[in-house]
Amino acid sequence: MKITIIGVGYVGLTFGLVLCKKGNEVYFYDNDKKKIDLLKNGVLPIKENGLDDILNQLYKKCSFFSKPGDYIRDSDIIFICVGTPILEDGLIDTSYFKKVVNEISSYLSNRSVLVVKSTITPDHIIWCKNFLNKNFNFLNFAVNPEFLREGNALYDAENPSRIIIGVENEFSKEKLLSLYKDFNSPIIITDPISASIIKYASNSFLATKISFINEIANLCDILGADINDVAIGMGLDPRIGKNYLNAGIGYGGSCLPKDTKAFIRFFKDNGLKFNILESVNYVNENQYKIVIKKLEKYLGKLEGKNISIFGLAFKGGTDDVRESIALKIIKELINLKVNIKAHDYWAIDNAKKILPSISYFYDVYDASIDADAIVIATDWKEYKDINWEMIKKLMRGNLIIDGKNILNYSEVIKIGFIYEGIGRRKI
Ligand code: NAD
Repeated sequence: MKITIIGVGYVGLTFGLVLCKKGNEVYFYDNDKKKIDLLKNGVLPIKENGLDDILNQLYKKCSFFSKPGDYIRDSDIIFICVGTPILEDGLIDTSYFKKVVNEISSYLSNRSVLVVKSTITPDHIIWCKNFLNKNFNFLNFAVNPEFLREGNALYDAENPSRIIIGVENEFSKEKLLSLYKDFNSPIIITDPISASIIKYASNSFLATKISFINEIANLCDILGADINDVAIGMGLDPRIGKNYLNAGIGYGGSCLPKDTKAFIRFFKDNGLKFNILESVNYVNENQYKIVIKKLEKYLGKLEGKNISIFGLAFKGGTDDVRESIALKIIKELINLKVNIKAHDYWAIDNAKKILPSISYFYDVYDASIDADAIVIATDWKEYKDINWEMIKKLMRGNLIIDGKNILNYSEVIKIGFIYEGIGRRKI
């Protein structure tokens, strides 16, 4: 099939490359010309596990464009994958989405299906559908939300947990079923609005699990109980499940924070109050403060202290720093006049755009020199395997705040560290 992908970011690029690998002819369009020029030369504009290899194998088979054109008219399916960031009060910034819809409308005919993959609330789905229907007599409109997780994006795009196809006619349904015929995933056929709700309700539920376990972790901290044991004990109940019960400093990233806020707002616009999700958000917005409290507990006044932050990306395996909790912690520490050294495996360049004035280190040992404390703020699995004995020697102090609960605490305590996880037993 001929496929156009509009918006070549974490979602569009990964998904499009997977479609190309499966034998489709894929046209990528992004209005960021620099990004397109890099891709034309096989250079990845983002960092994501495994994506450089697949781009290397396939970029010569793909076509990259920085302007709309006849390739859109020739496509069987056109996917909109542009960003849908959040504005104040949970309103979605639909400017990218609307711009694309306007730009491509003259290339649409009823031999193509237009699919919204961007996460966008039902009101905007209805707007898009009506706009194209009334002005261009275009009928083949679909919603196919994306569920990939950054850090595992390639695996998830190749092996989606489910494929949601929100359609209104047989033609669109058959086209999408044909595209997805080689995927070994359950397929749900529904209408576009239900498809959009599935996406928002899923992300809201995941956020709820995280805030829930974080509140229990805060109790464990006070009682000297261990949240990892509690989460295992809970998660073995099949009605609960073990995923998304990792306690820590809260969720960040480009999806959960914005999608929960947008869903709360959408409820409000429909005369409802999403009480649970409001609390989930409240818990998340405050959870990072536990790191500051723990630092103060051991170091007293933080002014003038040297603190090393391990991790800047919102999670390991990506360079994405959107809504990263690590950056939130750093901003608070800057206000408290702390000297900060920051390390990340991939996200330093992106973090520098937001926080240009702190010291960044590509080497984790350099980042530890003279530190009074280390805060692990991203779950890079590499941090488990670094030489903690060496880190201890390089530091001025001996405190680790493990905001992601990734270290084996008995090992680091043996070396002489004071270890504080989030809700972890202190032996
Ligand atoms: P992104 O910011 O990484 O990529 C968006 C791309 O769209 C950018 O490259 C940008 O240049 C391009 N773009 C913007 N306006 C354009 C226009 N007018 N014409 C052409 N290109 C344009 O975003 P992302 O993380 O890939 O997310 C895309 C969508 O998918 C969002 O709605 C997001 O909520 C959703 N989503 C993201 C993830 C994730 O993990 N990142 C997972 C599931 C769903």
